Amino acid sequence: MIRLQNIVKRYGKTEVLRGVSLTVAKGEVCVLLGPSGGGKSTLLRTINGLETFEAGEIQVDDITLPPNGQPGRDAALVRIRKRVGMVFQQFNLFPHRSVLQNVIEAPVHVLGRPVEEARAHAKKLLDRVGLGEKCDAYPGQLSGGQQQRVAIARALAMNPEAILFDEPTSALDPRMTAEVTSVMSDLASEGQTMIVVTHGMGFARAVAHQVHLLHAGSIAESGPPEEIFEHPRTEVGQAFLAESR
Ligand code: ATP
Ligand code: MG
Repeated sequence: MIRLQNIVKRYGKTEVLRGVSLTVAKGEVCVLLGPSGGGKSTLLRTINGLETFEAGEIQVDDITLPPNGQPGRDAALVRIRKRVGMVFQQFNLFPHRSVLQNVIEAPVHVLGRPVEEARAHAKKLLDRVGLGEKCDAYPGQLSGGQQQRVAIARALAMNPEAILFDEPTSALDPRMTAEVTSVMSDLASEGQTMIVVTHGMGFARAVAHQVHLLHAGSIAESGPPEEIFEHPRTEVGQAFLAESR
């Protein structure tokens, strides 16, 4: 479970998140849509502590992350980073480590898992994303879609409570997008909690439980995909959807 309450984030004087609240229940897929600059990436980065925030509260299960400067923030950050995985648009794999080494890195060095156990788990995860044959390859030898599937296996290797995806397919061509989307849809149907920033309306329609439209740092509209896509209630929602058709 992830719960955000009134998150306010500023860069200098500019307020880029203006009191954002949302809840993602365990096993749910939450999709964030919205125009460029609306704050989608900032929101994801705030949830797993890559950005500070000025006011509000983030809860991940029993962990409460307070704003910048409040007591308990550092301890909560250490715990949240172990519980929340992230997958980026540009994959962010370690280029000089093999696929398997990329996947076992955090379980071994952050969680202290024995190497052999981490390797066995990593092989299963790589099989699951269709890359069982690529354990010894290096990221530069893989297609973008394959690299992104390694990044997903790497996130899964931490047994995360939730995974945050920031435009995971926007650097990929349609065929590779389909490979990655299929892995994400499988995860969703297995009950993996996730928050996904995407322009892929097909994924949002098919997989999301809740869709939130983030505009200028605020949630303009929220609802299940059939409502948001068929009957947007706000002007912002209507304009955004008209443009994305
Ligand atoms: P996109 O769809 O283009 O990825 P986004 O919704 O992810 O957009 P963000 O990247 O979260 O938007 O940016 C939200 C706002 O915060 C923008 O106005 C952006 O210019 C600003 N911003 C983001 N990162 C920084 C930073 N490091 N310093 C200052 N301003 C920033
Ligand atoms: Mg972004």
